[in-house]
Amino acid sequence: MAEEIITGLTPLQADGLACVVCGADYLHIRVPQVPVGRSATGSQVFACASCHLPDTQRMRGALQ
Ligand SMILES: [Zn+2]
Repeated sequence: MAEEIITGLTPLQADGLACVVCGADYLHIRVPQVPVGRSATGSQVFACASCHLPDTQRMRGALQ
C-alpha cells in the first residue's frame, strides 16, 4: 500500500491523536479510526472511519 506523507497538520494530527480530515481529538472523542498515511515526522496519522472516504484524502491540509 502506498503511504502518503501528509503535511500541514496540527501537532495532535501529526502525532496520530486527531483526525486529519475533521480534526476530532481522539483523546476525547472515541470514534473508529483508520490509518491514512504518515506525517512529515514519520508518525502514522489517522482519520475517522466516517471521514475516510476515497476523495477526502484530497482535503488533507485544507482545515487550517
Ligand atoms: Zn474525522
